[in-house]
Amino acid sequence: MDSKVDIDWHARAKTLKIDGRAFINGKRVNAAGGATFECFSPIDSRKLTDVASCKSADVDLAVVAARAAFNDRRWAGLSPRERKQTMVKFADLILTNREELALLETLDMGKPITASLNVDVASAANTIRWFAEAIDKVYDEIAPTAEHTLAMITREPMGVVGAIVPWNYPIAMAAWKIAPALAAGNSVVLKPSEKSPLTALKLGDLALQAGVPAGVLNVIPGFGTEAGSPLALHMDVDCIAFTGSTGVGKKIQVMAGQSNLKRAWCELGGKSPNIVFADCQDMDKAAAASAASIFYNQGESCNAPSRLLVERSIKDVFVKKILAELKNYQPGDPLDADTSMGALVDCGQMETVLRYIAIGRLEGASLLAGGARVRSETGGFYITPTVFDDVNNSMKIAAEEIFGPVLSIIAFDTEKEAIKIANDTQYGLAAAVWTRDISRAHLVARALRVGTVHVNSYDEDDITVPFGGFKQSGNGRDKSLHALEKYTELKTTWIRLN
Ligand code: NAD
Repeated sequence: MDSKVDIDWHARAKTLKIDGRAFINGKRVNAAGGATFECFSPIDSRKLTDVASCKSADVDLAVVAARAAFNDRRWAGLSPRERKQTMVKFADLILTNREELALLETLDMGKPITASLNVDVASAANTIRWFAEAIDKVYDEIAPTAEHTLAMITREPMGVVGAIVPWNYPIAMAAWKIAPALAAGNSVVLKPSEKSPLTALKLGDLALQAGVPAGVLNVIPGFGTEAGSPLALHMDVDCIAFTGSTGVGKKIQVMAGQSNLKRAWCELGGKSPNIVFADCQDMDKAAAASAASIFYNQGESCNAPSRLLVERSIKDVFVKKILAELKNYQPGDPLDADTSMGALVDCGQMETVLRYIAIGRLEGASLLAGGARVRSETGGFYITPTVFDDVNNSMKIAAEEIFGPVLSIIAFDTEKEAIKIANDTQYGLAAAVWTRDISRAHLVARALRVGTVHVNSYDEDDITVPFGGFKQSGNGRDKSLHALEKYTELKTTWIRLN
C-alpha cells in the first residue's frame, strides 16, 4: 500500500471529527452515569476528545447485548460462508477508511503516521479478512471409535468473549482478538486501553456498517479497574482474551477463578534476547535488524529484542554498527510521513522509561547513546534511542520490561553461556539467533524457551503463524488457525448406531 506521503496530515487532523462514545448494542452511547475522561495526544498534548468512561453498569449493558445476540443466533446461527462475507466487507471498510483510522491511531498513540497507515491499519484489515476467509474451510472431526458408534468432535463458539487490549498496537491487537472470535460465531465485548481507545470505537461503527448485527460486537472504553475488571469478573462472560502486562495478566487469571472460571487467555510482556554469534554471516544486516526491531514503535513492542547478546570477540565492531543505525530512529513529528520514531504513549510512560535509564546508569551500565527527552517544546513525549553497554543480565534494565527505546547489550563467550543468559528471564515471548552454522541455529533455537525464534532475522511476521509466549509471557496464541482454539469449545457427540 502506498504511504500517502502527499497528504497534509496536520490539516486533516484539524478537521477530524472524533466520537468518543461507547458502542453498545449497535449504537453510540454515553456511559450510563455520563462519566467521561479526557483523551490527549502524546504528540503535542492537544486534547482530542472526551471519551465515555465505562464502568460496571456499562459492562453489564454490553454483556447483556452480547448474550442476547449470541442466544438468538443472529450471528452464531449464520453459515460460516455468510459470516465470511460480512467480515470481508468489514475488512474492506477498514481499508476504505484507512486514512481516518491511521490518523486516529497516530494522534491517540503517538506512532508515526506511515506506520499507522501501512502497518497497523493494513494489518488489522488483513487479520479480519484472513479469519473471514479461513472460517468456511475449517472442518470438524469424527473419532475412530467402534463399529456401532459415531463420535463427532465439533467446535462450538464459546458465547460471550471479553477482549481487553493494550495501547501499543491498538487497532492491530483489537483485530487479533475480534477476528477469530467473530469468525467462530462468538459475540464480543472489546475494552480498549484508556490510553488509545479511538480506533477500537471506530471498528464498532465499521463492523455494523458491514452487516455484523447489533450486539455482536460492543466496544466499551474505560479504565482497567473500572471497565476491565468488571468484564473479567463478569459471571456471564465465557472467555477473556487479554493482551497486556504480566502483572495485570496475573490479576485477570485470579478474576477468572474468582468468578465463573471463564477461560482466561493472556498474551503478556517480554524481554526478548537477540543473540549474535561471531560467525554471523552479515553483521551489517544483523545490526540493522537489531536496531529496527528494538526502536520500531518507540520500543513499545512486546516482542522487541531489548537484550542484545553479542559474542565478546565481535562486540566492539558490532556495537559500532548498532550506533551507526541510530540516525535512522531519531524522534520526529509523527504526522510527518518521513518520521520513523514518534512519541511515547503518554507522560507516564515517558517517565517510566527515563526512570529505567537513570537506574541503568546507577547500576553501572555504560550509556553509549540517547537517554534524553527531546522535542519537549512540542508538549509531546519523545525519547532518543538509547543504548546501554556492559549490561549484566541481573541488572534491572536487563530483567524488567522497560517498554521504550532502550537497548541493553550483554557480552557472552560461549554458546552455552548465551543460551543460559537468554533463558534467564521470567519471560519467553521471542528470540533471535544470528549464525552461519546451521546446526548451531537449530540447537540454540531448540534450547530457547520462547514462543517465536528468528534465525538470521528478527522481524518476520505473517498472519499464518501463531504468536504468543512461554513462561510469564502468557498462554494461548493469537494469529493463525490456532487462535480459533481460544474462542471455541470442543464438544463430543456420541451416536449409537443400532
Ligand atoms: P496493561 O496491562 O497496563 O493494560 C492492558 C489492558 O488491561 C488495558 O486495556 C488496561 O486498561 C487493562 N487493565 C489494566 N488493569 C486492569 C485490571 N486490574 N483489570 C482489568 N483490566 C485491566 O498493559 P499496557 O501498558 O496497556 O500494555 C503494555 C503491555 O502489553 C506490555 O507488557 C506488553 O509487553 C504487553 N503486550 C503483549 C503483547 C503480546 O501479544 N504478548 C502484545 C502487545 C502488548
